[in-house]
Amino acid sequence: TRKRWVIGNWKMNPNLAAAKNLTQALITELSTTPIQQCQLAIAPTHLHLITISSLIQHANIPSKIQLVAQDVATQRHTGAFTGDISADLLIDAGTEWVIVGHSERRTLHHEDEALIELKLRAALDAGLGVIWCVGETLSERESGQATAIVTAQVTAHTQLLSIIDPQKFILAYEPVWAIGTGRTASPEDAQQMHATIRQVLSHIRPALNETSLLYGGSVKSDNAGLLAQCPDIDGALVGGAALDADSFLQIAKAF
Ligand code: 13P
Repeated sequence: TRKRWVIGNWKMNPNLAAAKNLTQALITELSTTPIQQCQLAIAPTHLHLITISSLIQHANIPSKIQLVAQDVATQRHTGAFTGDISADLLIDAGTEWVIVGHSERRTLHHEDEALIELKLRAALDAGLGVIWCVGETLSERESGQATAIVTAQVTAHTQLLSIIDPQKFILAYEPVWAIGTGRTASPEDAQQMHATIRQVLSHIRPALNETSLLYGGSVKSDNAGLLAQCPDIDGALVGGAALDADSFLQIAKAF
């Protein structure tokens, strides 16, 4: 059976005090009401990883919250790379996973498939797991290209997928038009795309049939229930609603 995940991507939002409060609120709530049905993870900014990691490690809760970074350098080794943060440094800070290929990186930082491949390889080589994001824009969906675009985003990395450790790989479908817009994909559209992605992955390699496929894009506590019922949706990558402990845990309970 595929593992279920609910992952909070905090993006460039909470300051240190708010990030600590949010983590502490999650810990407090989980110590009385544990969540067993899915694995929780949170992605603070790089600056807060060490602090949040130590809060999590010292928490007395039955199910651990895993720590995710929002980005990783393409360079694998130490050296003269001003401003970059390597996978090794992320691991050193207590991180287990990293988000790669997020639409905000693709758009705002012009990250293309070649760069995404370098980041995926740097992360995996170091031992980090990857939360790999794909998704089409509104114009691509409206012109009927959504499936072709998402399929191309996956198959651009067929060689890597044929050797990837399935335990270190989560795929998130995040339609760009649904991110931060309040406009969620319908459960039917999301399910259909997830089924397509699952087919593409298992065609590349049968072992990838067990990959956890997460949906992301305006997931809230009031729409998580229907998404969670879709057979190929194994969890959620949550932005805005993950900034509130109650909303985030409500979403987790839906999965
Ligand atoms: P929102 O939940 O704010 O739409 O963000 C989704 C997202 O991009 C998560 O990575």
